[in-house]
Amino acid sequence: EAEAEAVEVALQSGLVVLRGKNAAFMDPVRVLNAGYEAHHVRSDRYYARTFFTSTVEPVPGDADGEESRKRKRKRKVYTPNAKEAVAESRHQEVRSVILEAHEAFQKTVAPFLRKHIVFSDDDNCIASPSKSWTVPQKPTVEEGELNFVELAALWQAPLYEISFLESIDGQFGCEEEDPGTTALFNTVFENSSATSKAAQCGGCKYLLPKLSKFLISDIPELHQLIPGVSGDGFNLMVIDPPWENKSVHRKALYPTLPNRYLLSLPVKQLGHTDGALVALWITNREKLRHFAETELFPAWGVSLAAVWYWLKVTAEGTMVSPLDLDHHKPYECLLLGYLPSKGGLSSEEENVPSLDSRGRVDLPDKYVLMSIPGDHSRKPALKSILSKYIPRQGHGEKGLELFARELNAGWTSWGNEPLRFQHLSYFCER
Ligand code: SAM
Repeated sequence: EAEAEAVEVALQSGLVVLRGKNAAFMDPVRVLNAGYEAHHVRSDRYYARTFFTSTVEPVPGDADGEESRKRKRKRKVYTPNAKEAVAESRHQEVRSVILEAHEAFQKTVAPFLRKHIVFSDDDNCIASPSKSWTVPQKPTVEEGELNFVELAALWQAPLYEISFLESIDGQFGCEEEDPGTTALFNTVFENSSATSKAAQCGGCKYLLPKLSKFLISDIPELHQLIPGVSGDGFNLMVIDPPWENKSVHRKALYPTLPNRYLLSLPVKQLGHTDGALVALWITNREKLRHFAETELFPAWGVSLAAVWYWLKVTAEGTMVSPLDLDHHKPYECLLLGYLPSKGGLSSEEENVPSLDSRGRVDLPDKYVLMSIPGDHSRKPALKSILSKYIPRQGHGEKGLELFARELNAGWTSWGNEPLRFQHLSYFCER
């Protein structure tokens, strides 16, 4: 009973660490909520894709089952090539770890999911069982939201501006100091206040969590975030590249980038003088994993330290798809590595696990993070779980998310649509 109570309390914070299991369950909605005082993230919009899973378990993004049928047809003549064989052996290696984590989650956390996450009645914008929601085929930029990717390509793009609003309902009154406007694209915009704020651009309202910064641009402008000579840079970086992928391309979900462009990301330059923890999301293609490990991390100066797994579960606690399908896994990988300090420390000091003067927690390998997935490709917010593994904790957390579609309190977000999920329609008042 005491354990059940502890799980319920942890669920309120959004993160339940499964003790002794190298695994945790996250409710990203609650984690994100910590950045806002007067609002919270709408569960029905966050979990739009997986809200209804009670009877069928569709392959994500495949509501009519066509993909699964194709996969089954293909499986009959399926012989793995060399890369697929490597991928399969990686899968076999981690299979039991995932099963064990999932089993612990099913026993301890899953029974509370409906009450705490999906079907909580504590306000009018978290779904209740009596409400029904339409499950979108793919995430669409809804009417009233800006499509930043399309806007940036227009000749008028330089004319778009963003400015703070005094409140959600009103603009700054004339007695208030004029907040001024800033170019929306290619300019760093910051909410430096300790409370969340609303901003307006292109006639739409966006909510900016406390102490957050963002830059909407293409790669060449990313240099604006590189710390100056006296600056100290970011010590925690989360990178979720738009890997080339047939399904993303076919569904025109977002523009993708060939691998060679990723090699030129200034990760090393963005890093903190005292080193940084770098987390890279990759899809399940062996080709990408190989590229990330053998080319990308070395090009960025990052040394691989651990591999984590994001296991996607449904509101019922089951995995979103069977664990052993050939071409589709219910999990994705997160490669974690360290950027060394720029100060030229001795090789012993550079040995990252012993760096922390305050007894840093060692980064575990094969950690399993479970959560109910949101919109296509939307990842759980890693802020809450990675902070304690930052090298030399003394500086606090200086977080940067690259290719972001949302903002995080205290963090800087960069990409061509970092305001995507900040539109006011993704929130409701507390
Ligand atoms: N981590 C994000 C989330 O949880 O929602 C998803 C990131 S998604 C895999 C990749 C993002 O990179 C998309 O928003 C895409 O539009 C953006 N992107 C693609 N090409 C880009 C470029 N050249 N510069 C900046 N962002 C780009």
